[in-house]
Amino acid sequence: MSIRVTRSSMPKLEDYVEEIKPIFKSHHLTNMGPVYKKFQHQLKEYLQVPELSLFVNGHIALEMAIQALGLCIPGGEVITTSFTFVSTTHAIVRSNLKPVFCDIRESDFTIDPDKIEALITDKTVAIIPVHVYGNICDVEKINAIAKKYSLKVIYDAAHAFGVTYKGIGIGNYGDASMFSFHATKVFNTIEGGAIAFQDNKYSVPLHELKNFGIHGPEDVESIGGNAKLDEFRAAMGICNLRRIDECINARKRVYNRYIERLSGKKGLRLCKPQKNVLANYAYFPICIYQDDFGKSRDLVFNQLADREIHARKYFYPAINELHCYKERYGNQLTPHAHDISLRVLTLPMYEELDLEDVDRICDIVLE
Ligand SMILES: *Cc1c(COP(=O)(O)O)cnc(C)c1O
Repeated sequence: MSIRVTRSSMPKLEDYVEEIKPIFKSHHLTNMGPVYKKFQHQLKEYLQVPELSLFVNGHIALEMAIQALGLCIPGGEVITTSFTFVSTTHAIVRSNLKPVFCDIRESDFTIDPDKIEALITDKTVAIIPVHVYGNICDVEKINAIAKKYSLKVIYDAAHAFGVTYKGIGIGNYGDASMFSFHATKVFNTIEGGAIAFQDNKYSVPLHELKNFGIHGPEDVESIGGNAKLDEFRAAMGICNLRRIDECINARKRVYNRYIERLSGKKGLRLCKPQKNVLANYAYFPICIYQDDFGKSRDLVFNQLADREIHARKYFYPAINELHCYKERYGNQLTPHAHDISLRVLTLPMYEELDLEDVDRICDIVLE
């Protein structure tokens, strides 16, 4: 049987049916109904954040956070990373802002905080870093820079669901953090997302943005769109949240086996656990250095694919090398992101992955 890079976590069918029964009674399908409210409450507790707004997906949540924080200033620049999923950059560009790509640290693939200041100009409005693979950014340094220059910080925390730093939910850093609940993520609502934020003055703007700007029954205050999470997805969220610790533990078991089998191999670099971080084991990236390893990243990828094991070159190409961006933004300032994008491979990682399959994958990588 073929193995994909990921497989969505799902609750038992009976549990989901139980959770949606009230919806069939009430006919209240969407528009921030009781299931939405229950889910929001539970999630806020789980993520340990003061404020939380739910959305139909992570991408639109990020766009709306950029808008709600008042960052859509003509000519504005946003310092971000080119080593991410396209969504991060698209959200900036679709907000008519200019992404300014900062290089990453080789160690954990997150934005290099020591290279941010040199990129700040009088047009800079914000920093949008990414907790890549669930590895957290240097939130303390980034916070200090943002304070010094009065910049807003929105974290793309799409990979970082459930991660804590020094015992505090990762969604507490910066002005806001975007979580994605897409089917492929550690935690899913099929499609879905959220903005966690610190200052409750953003509650109303975020709420109005996702609901047509509607303020009251006869009052439309602003020009919002539609990005509401419906009751069925909220119900999926409630079911999956019940199982999240179990799910992360199952991933940890896979992670440990990969570490056991692949660490210390010449030419193969794995991520080191981060200090003071409770991880979520969202992905298992390896970096392949052909001269020492004897095989290229692409060869390993193909050898796995030949056995119907589908790893992923995630992220390749780097964002500033994608068709839609390479003419507009150079990649001269992001050599590490470029280099890593050519070496990185994320291996299959999901809750139900058998350890025998992990062994089989490792055998092929190492053969
Ligand atoms: C998945 C993802 C997004 C987008 O989230 P959706 O919920 O799929 O819209 C944004 N950024 C990163 C880094 C992601 O992995």
